[in-house]
Amino acid sequence: MNYDLVVFGSGPGGYTSAFRAADLGMKVGLVERHTQLGGVCLNVGCIPSKTLLHVARVISEVRDISEFGVDFGEKHIDLRKLIAKKDSVVSKLTKGLAGLAKQRQVDVLTGKAMFVGSNEAKVDAATGSLSVTFEQAIVATGSSPTKLSGLPDDPRIINSTGALDLENIPERLLVIGGGIIGLEMASVYAELGSRVTIVELTPNLMFGADQDLVMPLENKISKRLEAVYKETQVVAIDTDIDALVVSLDGADAPSKAAFDKVLVAVGREPNGSKINSDTAGLVLSDKGFIEVDGQMRTNVSHIYAIGDVVGAPMLAHKAAHQGKVAAEAAAGLKSFFEPKGIPSVAYTDPEVAWVGLTEDDAIRTGTRFSKGIFPWSASGRSLSMGRTEGLTKLIFDEKNNQIIGGGIVGSNAGDLIAEVGLAIEMGSDVHDLGLTIHPHPTLAETISNASEVSAGTVTDLYLGGTKSD
Ligand code: FAD
Repeated sequence: MNYDLVVFGSGPGGYTSAFRAADLGMKVGLVERHTQLGGVCLNVGCIPSKTLLHVARVISEVRDISEFGVDFGEKHIDLRKLIAKKDSVVSKLTKGLAGLAKQRQVDVLTGKAMFVGSNEAKVDAATGSLSVTFEQAIVATGSSPTKLSGLPDDPRIINSTGALDLENIPERLLVIGGGIIGLEMASVYAELGSRVTIVELTPNLMFGADQDLVMPLENKISKRLEAVYKETQVVAIDTDIDALVVSLDGADAPSKAAFDKVLVAVGREPNGSKINSDTAGLVLSDKGFIEVDGQMRTNVSHIYAIGDVVGAPMLAHKAAHQGKVAAEAAAGLKSFFEPKGIPSVAYTDPEVAWVGLTEDDAIRTGTRFSKGIFPWSASGRSLSMGRTEGLTKLIFDEKNNQIIGGGIVGSNAGDLIAEVGLAIEMGSDVHDLGLTIHPHPTLAETISNASEVSAGTVTDLYLGGTKSD
């Protein structure tokens, strides 16, 4: 089988690049080791986790609505129905991808792909081994959960994939890792009824986010969680018949605690070294990421790499955008991957989202900046929703007042951050955002309000007098 382009892996990076390349007239083979297309994101990542987080959010909102005088009584969870719903969402999307591949005449090859040279791969399928030759290739093999060394082999110790499978709701759950995935899964299980403890090695939750944005989340979820132990390490796990006994080392943590399940959410590792990449001559970094240039081209000029396998941030929308660039570059177009910002979102309750430069980044890099912070306690919309813990923060370049970053914590922050991303890409300045009329009352207004705070023209807060400009 000979193709203009072979794509290894069908996650958001892989399928996007395969479809774009086919639309540009190339004969494309898309190789996927699993029977369902869609990669981690659709099958065991973004989509199933957001389906469960939707349920967690509804449970929490129903509880909180009692403040408004409405009471729905005790919740009842039908776990079988919940899993079936989550699986049906995943299946609808993955079947949709298969249909889109067919419409574009992209050949889907089911099996594990390995390079056998720089223009040839072997695909190990259930029916035997196929040899595939190609003019160009895109590696989009993604990442796998990082394992914690020294832990026993026990089915009660799970990773994010196991956590999404939800065979039961454990009474006591330990989440190792206070990053986005750990916090999201902790939120789901806490709302479903587990007593959840989080341990985090570093002093802060959600590495990479400004801590003033994380604090409102921490305040809210700490009321729902059993405990959050920072600067704490899991030293060992003993597997008793009726519990996992975890030894902890941290100033505030007990030395031992018992759990029914332990979720390891300590990061993800690239699948770059698992495809015989050296046979194709590809250069990998120390950590196993495939090195690429601005067109996603590896050191072997007809082989591209995209998504999680090329490095952080490991996010679906980054993978998809890189996929388009790689396909277009392979088709000879002058496409480059040079975003001014890639949004990150934690779909916790409240959500935390940021894009562009964080305040911590700005300080660390010595960037001269000004900032505008608008507290949601002054927003009519958030008051009417009973959700005043939010905060919108914008970061401006001091020399030209252009927006270079922003972060939001609060309900729907993940949707709201898109406006900040657009403003950064468009080179908007503090007045562009402040003078854009936002509908009232909306949470989006807090973005123009934060801009007005920075410009000194805000009237919804009193900051000791406003400027004329
Ligand atoms: P992947 O999606 O990992 O796809 C790689 C594909 O390659 C897989 O299907 C794999 O089976 C296949 N493959 C690997 N090796 C081979 C081989 N040798 N031959 C054939 N096929 C192979 N990101 C977000 O942006 N938003 C979120 O809300 C979000 N939530 C997440 C929640 C969880 C629980 C997890 C685990 C991740 C989440 N992510 C989220 C991250 C997101 O899923 C990844 O960044 C994204 O899937 C990366 O896309 P990719 O195309 O690089 O690789």
